Amino acid sequence: MMQIPCPWCGPRNEVEFHYGGQAGVSYPADPQAVSDVDWAHFLFYRANPKGMFTERWQHRAGCRRWFTIRRDTTTHEIRRDEDEAVTR
Ligand SMILES: [Zn+2]
Repeated sequence: MMQIPCPWCGPRNEVEFHYGGQAGVSYPADPQAVSDVDWAHFLFYRANPKGMFTERWQHRAGCRRWFTIRRDTTTHEIRRDEDEAVTR
């Protein structure tokens, strides 16, 4: 079982969290101007690297806040810099 470090509550069991997907995916500035292909890429296409990946998590069963961590997708090693804690 993976331990995820919530910036506000400390390390907790992964069952308390909700995975929010890849971090840094921006909503299109003008969604009406985006083609169907580009819209599909925005909605459905995400990186799937082997290794470190920056992702969003919500501490759903705790403080309910969102934060960003970097997780190694092969070892589940988690790194989080203090300045990466961003609320949505
Ligand atoms: Zn928390």
